[in-house]
Amino acid sequence: MSKTALITGATSGIGASFARLLASLGYDLVLVARDEVRLNEKARLLEGEFGVACQILRADLTSALGLKIIEDRVASTQNPIDVLINNAGFGTNKSFLLSDIEIEQQLLDLLVATPMRLMHAVLPVMRSRNSGIIINVSSVAAWIAGGTYSAAKSYLTVLSESLHTELRGTNIKVLALGPGFTRTEFHQRGRMRMNGLPKFMWLDADRVVLKAWTDANKGKAISIPGWQYLFLSSVTRFGPRPLVRKIGMNVRVHQRPKKE
Ligand code: NAP
Repeated sequence: MSKTALITGATSGIGASFARLLASLGYDLVLVARDEVRLNEKARLLEGEFGVACQILRADLTSALGLKIIEDRVASTQNPIDVLINNAGFGTNKSFLLSDIEIEQQLLDLLVATPMRLMHAVLPVMRSRNSGIIINVSSVAAWIAGGTYSAAKSYLTVLSESLHTELRGTNIKVLALGPGFTRTEFHQRGRMRMNGLPKFMWLDADRVVLKAWTDANKGKAISIPGWQYLFLSSVTRFGPRPLVRKIGMNVRVHQRPKKE
């Protein structure tokens, strides 16, 4: 019987790479994002190339209605979801002191409430089947102090680790993926100034996703792709907190637009 994977933010970047990898492995897909045209394009492309079935669900996950549609889908016992990829997200270039409160709220809705509610909805189904994989796309920013984005990713990493522990002994795997800077639409959409970033710091989305998938299947709790981020995250995870706070503020400053 075919298996089904649901991916939020499947039209671009890391989510699109997950969609491609899982389609190549024979998974039927449920693709979620706001842009219906892109969703359709992606679905037809993957169906044509890999012969899998692709359902699209257009939803703005920062809205209660949009989130409810996806919660209902992942809670289905008739068409169960085998793999949930909590990926949809965005970042901003504004410090908390200058930001729009509605954007801060959207960050919390999309990066915190959405994955939390989707996991809460899907886990009873996975438990009853004793089978499932959840990958939460967090960030290495979870280990620095860089505003709401960092704090939200920190929440997601900690919740993933907690569920990984709670589900030990079952056949359900939960992984937090912590990528560093990855070439996607993320920085352009967030109007971040990235031209100072050295080339070796950029990751490739397909590689990030392949590593995450391999690590999840091995039963790991956290996946950090790239030697550069393995090194940096050991400093931010285990180094002195005052240093970590300094690193966080430096990253934020570099992401700001030229004129602010
Ligand atoms: P991306 O290329 O901008 O893709 C974001 C995806 O999320 C798109 O498919 C977008 O589609 C969807 N999305 C955005 N807002 C949404 C909403 N309100 N409702 C539903 N879907 C929404 O960015 P990406 O880099 O692949 O980001 C994916 C994840 O990786 C995010 O959680 C991000 O925080 C994380 N991450 C990225 C990097 C990086 O350097 N790129 C590093 C660490 C972590 P629509 O616009 O059509 O909705």
